[in-house]
Amino acid sequence: MTQRLVVKFGGTSVADLDRIRVVAGRVAKMAGDGTQIIVVVSAMSGQTNQLVEWTSSFGQLHNSKSFDEEYDVVVSSGEQVTSGLMALALQELGHKAKSFQGWQVPIITDASHSKARVQDIDKEVLENALAEGYVVIVPGFQGITEHGRVSTLGRGGSDTTAVALAAALKADRCDIYTDVEGVYTTDPRLVPDARKLDRLTPEEMLEMASLGSKVLHTRCVEIAMNYGVKLQVLSSFIDKPGTLITDEESGVEKPVVSSVAFSKNEAKVTIYQIPDKPGLSARIFGKLAEENVNVDTIVQIIADQDRHTEISFTVGVHDMQRTQEMLEVLRAEIGFSHVSAEGNIAKVSIIGAGMQSHVGVAQKMFQTLADNNINIELISTSEIKVSVLIRQEHTDLAVKALHDAYGLSGSGL
Ligand code: ASP
Ligand code: MG
Repeated sequence: MTQRLVVKFGGTSVADLDRIRVVAGRVAKMAGDGTQIIVVVSAMSGQTNQLVEWTSSFGQLHNSKSFDEEYDVVVSSGEQVTSGLMALALQELGHKAKSFQGWQVPIITDASHSKARVQDIDKEVLENALAEGYVVIVPGFQGITEHGRVSTLGRGGSDTTAVALAAALKADRCDIYTDVEGVYTTDPRLVPDARKLDRLTPEEMLEMASLGSKVLHTRCVEIAMNYGVKLQVLSSFIDKPGTLITDEESGVEKPVVSSVAFSKNEAKVTIYQIPDKPGLSARIFGKLAEENVNVDTIVQIIADQDRHTEISFTVGVHDMQRTQEMLEVLRAEIGFSHVSAEGNIAKVSIIGAGMQSHVGVAQKMFQTLADNNINIELISTSEIKVSVLIRQEHTDLAVKALHDAYGLSGSGL
């Protein structure tokens, strides 16, 4: 059977004409044995930031639907440029290559402009081009709403385009080419002896993406998981296998902890003396959701004797003030006593699929932090991760210490 691959190249991999030609050379090689290739490209690195900046000079229009619609028109254009250039670079190498913009495929999304979700992909146009022997190039990040307006999938969304295409077209694999060799045990900029992982389960990758690792767009991993798309993250700058993200058994026991993730710039908000009555959490978080505040880690304290509870949660530090203001409005209505908020919070997490079948994993984390005199402000867990909130200034120390404590450094496992 003919192999079919989706290959996605990030911004640094298509940063200029030279890089585009290098990448086209790689694609030409892959296509050489008859493998069908769908190339997904990001904008040249830095380009999307520039486009976003141009729209933000119309800041007074911000927060309106009509602003978001035109924002998408502007910021989606970076990918249009690289898709056409990639097609030309492949043609220069003697290949049949054709680009299809998001609206030409079409990639249908919902109408939440600037952070749209893919709803449906029409396969016909691409299937026909592949059958005619074309290398097909699709700009990442773009879609079209059912109202016929251009949409974008949120920053970093090209990964999601790639995996959604791989799911729709039943590709054998989706390779995400970037400027690092794969997924690491933690950020190598912080811990120089962090190791590249050979493989990860989709669940681990999803936790990593949502807990602050910037390697892949979270939605991309969700789609890969839901549709069973085999993903690989690898470098376009060297010729080496990367990190494979798959459920397939490798024969090697799953590591108890495979990575340490962190995100700085969090804020912790606590609401005190909330009457212990049904429906109040729904009101509080309903209000925040309505205002598009992304709430993370939520912890509720068990009600005390006079039937009051306390809720703590985190939000991005940029949303802290807005959150406080919104809660202030709810205070009289709901009847809680007061709200406190502190920025300068970081979330540090250990992640590992093998954690489910081992004891003492969380304890080791707490002990390691204690040994380093780092106070834990809040703890939350799932089956395959433990997260703690700590003061931001301790992030580097905590990450390094945990990375060591779980044996992730150097040649490690
Ligand atoms: N160009 C878009 C961005 O910079 C999408 C992407 O590269 O994934 O966010
Ligand atoms: Mg990216």
